[in-house]
Amino acid sequence: MENVLIIDDSMLQAAQLRSIIKDDYDVTIVETAEDGLEYANTGNYSLILLDVIMPGMDGFMLLKKLQEEDVTRHIPVILITSLADIQNEQRGLMLGAVDYITKPFHPLIVKARVNTHIKLYQYRKQIEHQSTTDQLTGVANRRRHDRYSAVKWQEATRLQVPFSICMFDIDNFKMYNDTFGHPAGDKVIAEVAKTASSYLRRSTDFFARYGGEEFVAFMMGNDAESAFSHLIKIRREVEALHIQHNPSVSQWVTISVGGVTVVPQMADSYDTYLKIADTMLYDAKRFGRNQVVWAAEGMKQLLEK
Ligand code: GH3
Ligand code: MG
Ligand code: MG
Repeated sequence: MENVLIIDDSMLQAAQLRSIIKDDYDVTIVETAEDGLEYANTGNYSLILLDVIMPGMDGFMLLKKLQEEDVTRHIPVILITSLADIQNEQRGLMLGAVDYITKPFHPLIVKARVNTHIKLYQYRKQIEHQSTTDQLTGVANRRRHDRYSAVKWQEATRLQVPFSICMFDIDNFKMYNDTFGHPAGDKVIAEVAKTASSYLRRSTDFFARYGGEEFVAFMMGNDAESAFSHLIKIRREVEALHIQHNPSVSQWVTISVGGVTVVPQMADSYDTYLKIADTMLYDAKRFGRNQVVWAAEGMKQLLEK
């Protein structure tokens, strides 16, 4: 069931609204805009019903704040206004509210408006998900990587936790396609993605197909040694799939991995470190493929073989 957040200083009014929609949605009620902001920021709500006039931070100020944050920007907000309140309605719609409902409440109208905006929101999320998912493998695509890495990099900078970035590339893949055909190559890409992503499932991990036969991942919280050994495990698991390669290059399909771990500072950019990971990947290829090369503190290189 979708979650709806009601922000209203009048408990009576909030209870009336809840009773109208409670059969279809999980409803949370908060009495102040400050609490509303905190709840909305959890990202758990598909719709907000917002009273415009409240003591302290009012509905307009809250609307502005909701519009400013990535997490809350797209949550539809329906304003609760009184019938004569054309001016407030106007101002709220200009500030980004999607609709308004007037007091006294007509249950069927309230239900219809809430249902419509939740459907639109779900549709929007579905489109968003599709456009950031790689068709072949079902993992995140480069677009989601670009957006999400920016958010997580900022978070790691703020919290001062280690951030590891790595690039993977399937070894001698051109030869694989030339030997077994492109459709078989596609299957290998999907298998490798499935295996690697199954080891990067924590909420602090992220894995995406970067393009072609290349993947990118990041992890928050691990130090260089533990990130390095985790990637060695993933590399071994891919090798252990025992996907036959062309014997002139190797027995099984393998991957090379380049990574870097850093506690990001304000002046550091994600892209700089992504490039370092890519340089480490280049070294892994140069040193003979099927191995992980990592850049630790002070650019000290960790080598597997
Ligand atoms: P290296 O070990 O140095 O990475 O050698 P490589 O042959 O893997 O590298 P190269 O970059 O020369 O070739 C990558 C190959 O990956 C070429 C391309 O045909 C293939 N490829 C890229 N995207 C896809 C895809 O979506 N499906 C399939 N089947 N092959 C792809
Ligand atoms: Mg490549
Ligand atoms: Mg390759």
